[in-house]
Amino acid sequence: MLSTVCTGAIQGIEGFPVCVEVDIAPGMPTLAVVGLPDAEVRESKERVVAAIRNSGFDFPLKRITVNLSPAELRKSGTQFDLPIALGILAASDQLSQNARQKLTGLLVLGELALDGTLRPCAGVLPMLISCKKLGKTAVIPPQNVLEGQVSSAPFITPHTLKDLADYLEGKIEQDAVQISYIPQTEERLEPEIDFAEVKGQALAKRALEIAAAGGHNVLMIGLPGTGKSMLAKRFPGILPPLTQEESLEITKIYSICNLMGKSRLLTNRPFRDPHHTISNVALIGGGSTPRPGEVSLAHNGVLFLDEFAEFSRAALEVLREPLENGQVTISRAKETVTYPARFTLVAAMNPCPCGNLGNPLKPCTCSPMQINRYKSRISGPLLDRIDLTVNLNPVKYSDWNKTSEGETSAQIRERVLKARKIQRARFAGTNTTANAFMNAKQIKEFCPLPPGADTVLEAAMRKFGLSARSLDKILKTARTIADLEGKKDIEVKHLVEVMQYRPLDRKGVAD
Ligand SMILES: [Zn+2]
Repeated sequence: MLSTVCTGAIQGIEGFPVCVEVDIAPGMPTLAVVGLPDAEVRESKERVVAAIRNSGFDFPLKRITVNLSPAELRKSGTQFDLPIALGILAASDQLSQNARQKLTGLLVLGELALDGTLRPCAGVLPMLISCKKLGKTAVIPPQNVLEGQVSSAPFITPHTLKDLADYLEGKIEQDAVQISYIPQTEERLEPEIDFAEVKGQALAKRALEIAAAGGHNVLMIGLPGTGKSMLAKRFPGILPPLTQEESLEITKIYSICNLMGKSRLLTNRPFRDPHHTISNVALIGGGSTPRPGEVSLAHNGVLFLDEFAEFSRAALEVLREPLENGQVTISRAKETVTYPARFTLVAAMNPCPCGNLGNPLKPCTCSPMQINRYKSRISGPLLDRIDLTVNLNPVKYSDWNKTSEGETSAQIRERVLKARKIQRARFAGTNTTANAFMNAKQIKEFCPLPPGADTVLEAAMRKFGLSARSLDKILKTARTIADLEGKKDIEVKHLVEVMQYRPLDRKGVAD
């Protein structure tokens, strides 16, 4: 006998509907799963057999074939346990005609424990959103209830396989399982950390304000203990709030990675700070069952790379694609997966391997060659993506001892929001979202040089050996500074300010 149960799977960060077809025929007792299941799905067999037996049903000792269609798309995840188990119960006549009829109206997702209890599975949110058009009621594990609410699809959350069978048979009332249609949005949480707590470092704070206002990437160079990571952690707090659409995008990525935690919808910009020993796969995404990496978990937020020069050359190399395109493409034998990865890069590094170069109290023990090698680790193409570089000096006692608090994150964010508003109007109807992403034509249109600028730029080119690409970066950054001031045109003083965050060229770190 044949039965069909509807479920879902994930490709990239989108879900797609999958039909689980179960055929039971006389013959040697076997259970075969076909239709491009990966290792995770094939393991489902053992759980399904145990869960069916331990729920008081019979596991048919016959030839069972499970087909997952469409067959050409790879299936991964543990959500197939429950639909396969139900398909077997239906195909072996352990569900009544009425129950089988009711089953056709359901979209079933869930991992099974050996005793038949439902366990949470990854990617519930994108699967529910993509399958909403089917007009079915979803069955999801109770632990995934928050994702069900965000999806605004109708759903029920049975606790066990037996519960669900009883619901289908009409043995338990409908209100024994929850149905909710309410999408929930949480308020943006005010971060607990604030720029006002960081003493001194006015130049670095200003660089981060410009970065937030124009979407620029930043590199902070400074002695250990100068507050690089303190500053970086406070950076998301001055970024504009997420739009509804951005929230949903990030929430889908976290759903796929099983990192939802207790949140319903992620409403704060993500901040990711992977360690420099991270593998390429963990950073960029991929693996035998592809998963988004840190660059995608930082989507619409901040990727903080501390000890930037300590990251492997290969890891820094793979950062180029997301920095350039705002996404990563992972190619495998049978499929190509694309994950969004548009983040602001905040990088930090010591001035030299021992960390003491420029420290008035401790001597630097590095040889010039070591220092050069250290600096050259960050390749030119990567530096081309970093618009602002700022040197942090040790905090002066007079700054540290200041009783008056500095500006709060909220005050800085207000200016950032104004500058962003100007950019939204400027780039209306284009794909550009901020000054940092202007193309050559837009730079020409929106960044005309003010009178007297030639002298400043020529001097800078001579002094720092800047490339033409560096000049583009200077113009984009100056545009943002002008926007922060609400000025229509870039002025010479804006260009002069940018020179303080002078871009590094291939020669390495400026002294
Ligand atoms: Zn040193």
